[in-house]
Amino acid sequence: MSLSDQHAASLSAETVVVAAGRPPREHDAPVNPPIVLSSTYFGTGALDDGDRGYGRYSNPTWDPFEEALGQLEGAALPGLLYSSGLAAVSSALSLIPNGGVLVMPSHSYSGSLVMAAELAEKGLLELRTVDIADTEAVRAQIAPRNGKAADMLWLESPTNPMLGIADIRALTQAAHDAGAVVVTDNTFSTPLVQQPLSLGSDVVLHSVTKYLAGHSDVVLGALVTSDAKLRETLLHHRIIHGGIAGPFEAWLALRGLRTLALRIERSQASAAVLAERLSAHPALESVRYPGLVSDPGHDLAKSQMTGFGSILCVQVAAAGGLSAPETADKLVRALNLWLPATSLGGVESLIERRRRHAAEPVSVPENLVRLSVGIEHVEDLWADLKQALDALDR
Ligand SMILES: *Cc1c(COP(=O)(O)O)cnc(C)c1O
Repeated sequence: MSLSDQHAASLSAETVVVAAGRPPREHDAPVNPPIVLSSTYFGTGALDDGDRGYGRYSNPTWDPFEEALGQLEGAALPGLLYSSGLAAVSSALSLIPNGGVLVMPSHSYSGSLVMAAELAEKGLLELRTVDIADTEAVRAQIAPRNGKAADMLWLESPTNPMLGIADIRALTQAAHDAGAVVVTDNTFSTPLVQQPLSLGSDVVLHSVTKYLAGHSDVVLGALVTSDAKLRETLLHHRIIHGGIAGPFEAWLALRGLRTLALRIERSQASAAVLAERLSAHPALESVRYPGLVSDPGHDLAKSQMTGFGSILCVQVAAAGGLSAPETADKLVRALNLWLPATSLGGVESLIERRRRHAAEPVSVPENLVRLSVGIEHVEDLWADLKQALDALDR
């Protein structure tokens, strides 16, 4: 590839998203990597480590994205691309020994929680869920109980959808003292806003579906680590369990990544403006955004993130003779620009009442609405929200 790890480390992330993963700088070389559609590769001798072998082991179309993501996360090794964020979650959870202990935020992404709970039900692991913003409570869950300390600490910060902030440095230290491996789901922040490896995490997870790809047109996941042994184990899991990416999706993810810095810059700036204005609107009970000085996670977020992301959560007050959850649904229906849809991190602004999902933890309030701020003009986004909020008591 044309961008060495050393060169990438000397550049800002805004440049790396553009320059990483390009074909070699040779005469007539394309500036973008090609899409390679092949399930197998020419080979005549014994299959050693370096050979591509078969399309489930390796595909040249994955390489540029994996290399770029590894460089962006500050890892010593390329990332690993998966068919979805949850395929990456599955691979990461496979690092827990049989019957081992997993400590997970009680407000993790719901799919990660469901997967962990199902593995626990089968007796394959012991699941301890905890409020990840409560550092002492997490330490207590990591510590030995019935002779067993944590084997893996799962971190998500900010959490989805409650926007709780974990003290990543302190918690990875506590986990490592107990001999546990630390996986951080960095989907909400992207490496431009938070770099979990530099804060001590062993593995970083992404739903590439969200900000990295950024256009709501692919479903993909990724893992990144600097530990060669962990990477080997994860790669083996990907090969044997088969959660591999399609070449076209991988190519689209790299194309999306090229504009990540611009998208984040715009959506974060708009999220900050909207958070302030929403905080002053009487139709809402509460607004959570780590960028608000009044937010309980603000100081901690500031100490480990370069920005505050572009996800907001609001709780809608009961109005117009409806219950609070019904009023929240009314808000979502009254919008003309914001798209009522699940997911986040795309160029388009999305809004959703999370408890419409049966799998969402019951501790997520029924009237909580999550907003994923896109890259539209902030005044258009605000005008749409304002007209819908102003109409709630009518
Ligand atoms: C969406 C999401 C996932 C799951 O990723 P998929 O690509 O949907 O499989 C995991 N973690 C977080 C924080 C997410 O938002």
